[in-house]
Amino acid sequence: MLQKLVKYTAIVALVAFIATSSASAQDKIRAVIIDGQNNHNWVETTPYLVKILEDTGLFTVDVATSPKQGEDMNAFNVDFSKYDLVVMNYNGDRWNPKMEKAFVEFIVNGGGLLSYHAGNNAFPGWPAYNEMIALGGWEGRNEDSGPYLYLDADGNQVIDAVEPGVGGDHGPQWAYPIDVRAPEHPIMKGLPLKFRHCEDELYQRQRGPAHNVTVLASAFAVPEKRGTNRNEPLILTVPYGKGRCVNNMLGHAGKQLESVDTIVLLQRCAEWAATGKVTQEVPADFPGEDEPTFRKVLD
Ligand code: ZN
Repeated sequence: MLQKLVKYTAIVALVAFIATSSASAQDKIRAVIIDGQNNHNWVETTPYLVKILEDTGLFTVDVATSPKQGEDMNAFNVDFSKYDLVVMNYNGDRWNPKMEKAFVEFIVNGGGLLSYHAGNNAFPGWPAYNEMIALGGWEGRNEDSGPYLYLDADGNQVIDAVEPGVGGDHGPQWAYPIDVRAPEHPIMKGLPLKFRHCEDELYQRQRGPAHNVTVLASAFAVPEKRGTNRNEPLILTVPYGKGRCVNNMLGHAGKQLESVDTIVLLQRCAEWAATGKVTQEVPADFPGEDEPTFRKVLD
């Protein structure tokens, strides 16, 4: 009898264990990183992005790699219905019309978009995508792409639709301080109001439709580093239909993806874009105002 009971208990425990683990897999946020074409080293950065998301324990992560530039894009179709979040590590040829339509439907119906760094360089000629990122750079962007958006000394948004000129520019990399502009937003809540980013590009002169933008973080682009002498938005959110879009311009390459602020902000932006919430604690190694902090990400 005792033996039978032990056996029975073991089976119950095993069934409970299987049920729990499959439930937790089901509860995870399903993310897909799109790469395959980029003027940046996506072969280097995608493994970082995968690990950074997986390290939270919150995400399952797939990677969808496009054909090479100039190849047949009809062969590339991502089934967005399998995902809660699209991470853009892509800056290249337009997707085929069916995939572009499916992507817009995915966002309109409540999907999340996290545009990572040069993700906001992509698709200058696709109006819906530019509405989602609000501001973009390079790839021929100019005054026809939309206004400049920056912050005045008090942190108020300035939208300048008059000034002509390029969309997208940056000076040499430097370790700039980042200012939190929306401290109560779930992505920023609990972070120090000013913290030191690693040596990275400071995107400036971004242009785009700039509709319904909430600027979460900015940095002052100092003239000594060929900056605009303005507070340039670096992380912003945009609603699109029922979807949540985040444009996070930090993190040029693998080196920058070992900076704790870059890591933590990507993790928090990803969770919020997918769910509208952030459940992650701010880690103890998050940088203060004076020095960036680093973590080894890949083994
Ligand atoms: Zn870059």
